[in-house]
Amino acid sequence: MLTLPELQFGPGSSGLDKKMRVLVVEDDALLGDAIQAGLKQSGYAVDWIKDGISAEQALATEPYAAVVLDLGLPRLSGLEVLRRLRSRNIPLPVLILTAMDTVDDRIEGLDAGADDYLVKPFDMGELAARLRALIRRASGKTEPLLEVAGVKLDPAAHLVLYRDKPVDLSAKEFALLHALMLNAGKVLSRTKLEEQLYAWGNEIESNAVEVHIHHLRRKLFPELVETIRGVGYLMPRGKDF
Ligand code: CA
Repeated sequence: MLTLPELQFGPGSSGLDKKMRVLVVEDDALLGDAIQAGLKQSGYAVDWIKDGISAEQALATEPYAAVVLDLGLPRLSGLEVLRRLRSRNIPLPVLILTAMDTVDDRIEGLDAGADDYLVKPFDMGELAARLRALIRRASGKTEPLLEVAGVKLDPAAHLVLYRDKPVDLSAKEFALLHALMLNAGKVLSRTKLEEQLYAWGNEIESNAVEVHIHHLRRKLFPELVETIRGVGYLMPRGKDF
């Protein structure tokens, strides 16, 4: 089983080496400082904002992976920030962090669209763990990473590496390679592979699969896919080219 760090590559390249950005909205100076420091230590890039209006502005302009949101905030309450975020249909994971700890408060927060809820005082390790879980769920990282014959594929990040170097594939090439890797060692019929292309909604040319397989062999290596005449295609498992 592949782990994420193995898939990382050098600085300057796009992809998994980019730090995830988290927004912390907290008006208490000591607490905000502690949360920012704790999350930075967990590997996040952290923006810390101290009132509801500034939080709304930040959310409208920056792409965050998640938000840690206090409820009692100056200018605009955390609950209102959350309601406005959800009214714009933004599915960003939100963890409410607050001293308001009655059951009604929690229900109101969750109903307003929060994904999780942590009551002060809290443990920094638990906050980091809950945030990791939220981000993982949101980004669909439950899909396993695949590795066959020196080729690594990360379905969630839409990333393919060959010998640890990123390979630039079109969406259809990626879909075909994904299907072949999921079924490595088995023959896939051309019809089965065509179904992968139909998912993209366009009419499929009769030779579309052949053309994309040809591109995959050229971009990766010739032995990547074997043609089984009259049957279909096979990605051999276990060979390293
Ligand atoms: Ca507060």
